[in-house]
Amino acid sequence: MATPDIIKEETKKGNFVEQIVAADLAEGKNGGRIQTRFPPEPNGYLHIGHAKAICMDFGIAEKFGGVCNLRFDDTNPEKEDTEYVEAILEDIAWLGFKWGAIYYASDYFQQLWDFAIRLIKEGKAYIDEQTSEEIAAQKGTPTQPGIESPYRNRPIEENLRLFQQMNTGEIEEGKMVLRAKIDMANPNMHFRDPVIYRVINRAHHRTGTTWKAYPMYDFAHGQSDFFEGVTHSICTLEFVPHRPLYDYFIDELKEGKDLQDHRPRQIEFNRLNLTYSVMSKRKLLALVKEGLVDGWDDPRMPTVCGLRRRGYSPQAVRKFIDMIGYTKYDALNDFSMLEAAAREDLNQRALRVSAVLNPVKLIIDNYPEGQTEELVAINNPENENDGTHTITFSRELWIEREDFMEDAPKKFFRMTPGKEVRLKNAYIVLCTGCVKDADGNITEIHCEYDPESRSGLPGADRKVKGTLHWLSVNHCKPAEVRLYDRLFSVEDPSASDLDFRELLNKDSKKVIQGFIEQYAAEQTQTTYLQFQRIGYFTYDKASSPDKLIFNRTVGLKDNWSKKV
Ligand code: ATP
Ligand code: MG
Repeated sequence: MATPDIIKEETKKGNFVEQIVAADLAEGKNGGRIQTRFPPEPNGYLHIGHAKAICMDFGIAEKFGGVCNLRFDDTNPEKEDTEYVEAILEDIAWLGFKWGAIYYASDYFQQLWDFAIRLIKEGKAYIDEQTSEEIAAQKGTPTQPGIESPYRNRPIEENLRLFQQMNTGEIEEGKMVLRAKIDMANPNMHFRDPVIYRVINRAHHRTGTTWKAYPMYDFAHGQSDFFEGVTHSICTLEFVPHRPLYDYFIDELKEGKDLQDHRPRQIEFNRLNLTYSVMSKRKLLALVKEGLVDGWDDPRMPTVCGLRRRGYSPQAVRKFIDMIGYTKYDALNDFSMLEAAAREDLNQRALRVSAVLNPVKLIIDNYPEGQTEELVAINNPENENDGTHTITFSRELWIEREDFMEDAPKKFFRMTPGKEVRLKNAYIVLCTGCVKDADGNITEIHCEYDPESRSGLPGADRKVKGTLHWLSVNHCKPAEVRLYDRLFSVEDPSASDLDFRELLNKDSKKVIQGFIEQYAAEQTQTTYLQFQRIGYFTYDKASSPDKLIFNRTVGLKDNWSKKV
């Protein structure tokens, strides 16, 4: 078969996994077929690390005209649930990927059982009655051979009988396991008679109580790949030492089948780890269960649903994954890079609106009472097709408290007595002073406007240094605004000796009351907003017309790097 040019090209470029796949295609392996799988365990929600694996698994299939299937790796009924299965499907679809078939490792329980029986009959597996601690103690070290179990040479008939009992409920959890009889001196520890079946007395979310004996990861994963016809089984680096065992079981399974045309090949890439975050499902589950965050989709969580609720677009997540790339060594990825990807993406798609988060009243003394004007505001300067909307101007406005200073230094180009600023899309105003309460707090700022200076009028381009956003007091809506920050206060919580709970950033969520323009309050379908001069925001799922709630996705600038 002649190698198509596209494949020749791809062998030279692309990430290292793409190069391996292209080379396999060029060699004519698997009859030119490409099949990958994404194999989540339905024991939690997907996080951004899974998104990286998803981009790889689906990306390879898309790039080489193959298919990527989903396989729920549901071999441990203790922790798994259909709630997670549904959430996983939703998140993959949101990321923009289409799977071929949906499989479950539990679909293969019978086949795996039959295979285990065959190994027992061939003298290649035995029932061990030792505790897991005893088994671990006999494993040895990479440089020191392990010790053989006293049960290693149990007669085949007895093994068969006990294995049946492991599955009938007669054997308590932890009392017996089935181990593959391989080599207790092998330098690869995974070959030292790995446990391949254990007893779990818990109903399974799909198979109910049919099974009590459940296969271990190493006895299910490669075999499932083989049963399905996976050509490239792509996973993370911690599975490198498992690969020889993966190949060993497939060799055992093939039963004389010619695997040349059908052998799943495991390829490993580096995990995604984020600074100021954790990726372990166990820890994420603890945060949820202990109420330390507001659910799996808390906008501070690194979960796909958390990022979605925070206001990240799927394109931003994918852009970030592209930026960090795929390598063969582990690293810690900078959270600021994820935010930079979000800013770049949201700059293109966000609807620009006005919001005032820390309001103080501005009164334009020479603007007629009761008069209003509808001024034109551009929806998105990055995309003319997004059009414009209007914003109401009047005599009494809200501006940000930080935008006023009574005694300002020379370089302060915002509002201060005796100086002019432009009110965005509106007029140039001259600040005349402020009013304070008995405690010296500023309650009102006063100014006068120049009627000739309205934005867009001929001759209105008179230069002033500052431009401020504002809202008309009688034409805006109150809104709750949730300002989110890093979930953890240290860069690498997993590297600390302290419990991860103690490392949570206590200021990771601030709730404030502000105001938002009427137009923004009506746009409940628009997910991505920019509050001008402040940052990117999105409607929270709990937001309603009566109680508007917005989440901050990310500020306009990276001020975190300066803080630390
Ligand atoms: P746990 O935290 O329970 O160990 P897991 O990472 O093993 O979870 P799975 O549901 O088994 O989670 O993972 C499904 C797939 O996603 C696997 O192929 C795994 O290699 C990949 N994956 C998981 N975490 C990451 C990560 N941080 N970066 C890249 N890929 C990941
Ligand atoms: Mg796993």
